[in-house]
Amino acid sequence: MSKKRVVCTASIDDEAVEILSQQLTCELLPDTSVETLMNALDDTVAIVCRGEGKVPAEIIDAATDLRVIGRPGAGYDSVDVEAATRRAIPVVLAPVGGFAVAEGAVAMLLTLIKNLPQADEWVKTGQWSQRYCTPCGDLTGHTLGIVGFGRIGQHLARLVQPFDLRTVAYDTQVPADAMAELGVEKVDLETLLAQSDYVSLHVPLLAETKGLITAARLAQMKRGAILINTSRGGVVESLDVIAAALSSGQLGGVGFDVFPDEPPDHKHPLFRHERCLCAPHYIGLSTLAWSRICCTMAAGMNAVLRGEKPEFCINPQVL
Ligand code: NAD
Repeated sequence: MSKKRVVCTASIDDEAVEILSQQLTCELLPDTSVETLMNALDDTVAIVCRGEGKVPAEIIDAATDLRVIGRPGAGYDSVDVEAATRRAIPVVLAPVGGFAVAEGAVAMLLTLIKNLPQADEWVKTGQWSQRYCTPCGDLTGHTLGIVGFGRIGQHLARLVQPFDLRTVAYDTQVPADAMAELGVEKVDLETLLAQSDYVSLHVPLLAETKGLITAARLAQMKRGAILINTSRGGVVESLDVIAAALSSGQLGGVGFDVFPDEPPDHKHPLFRHERCLCAPHYIGLSTLAWSRICCTMAAGMNAVLRGEKPEFCINPQVL
């Protein structure tokens, strides 16, 4: 009889492969399509859903041997958790790399505030006198609005503490006193948008957060505010509304690590705007974060296969 296997929709850290290989044959699928995954379900007791890979209900229902699904990261919108829960299959997460996302949000914000891509070009193309023409901004003395005050939002609040700035946050679950401990004021979304010079999104993609940042909400923001999105692309209504807000000057800059469709259409007008700074869902993949994420997920999946509790599980009621 063939050894039971774990299939990965995209590659994971070598150390994590070693951990999973303690109990299973680890197999990397040739592409991330649902069709390829569907054809690989025989003897598959575990699926690692990574990259553009998806685990919809049709896969979960067809995978008769499936005992655990792993998601290397904190987001789980690529897995049909409801379908997994129906079949009592734990979905193991590894929300241990948020520090890298928070660092990336700060890096994007400061890069935009300080005009670094343009300033770099001025020097290298002999436009030295541009230093007198374009104001250089500050984080100090301004207001940062954090939308979603979970692990990453809180880490961001800690990172910016040494700057002399006001930080406000909007979160439906986190109470005001927990925010106050980090020097953050709890506000509603309208207040956050109206008062923040910089807005950073850190909510998961859920039915309630899909398209949260609409054209109407962009219009409620301070003119010239900077928007950073390192959460999920779908939290923003569309690239079109962002491009329009940048062109009109309502937004003074955007830093996006995530997009409604990934990869996005790189010919979209948004990407021609000089105040649009992008990364290909990349900032959370720092060397340290990726290693911690993959190993934590693999250890959690192994725990499930041994009949033990994983450290992080989105549907613990099935354990
Ligand atoms: P988390 O679950 O710790 O925090 C999310 C917070 O959002 C929670 O406090 C929750 O109460 C709040 N929230 C949920 N719905 C809300 C709503 N409708 N309005 C306001 N607040 C709401 O998650 P986290 O670890 O901080 O990660 C946040 C998100 O960042 C993840 O869900 C994931 O999509 C994304 N992420 C992106 C990367 C990346 O590579 N760019 C990496 C990790 C996570």
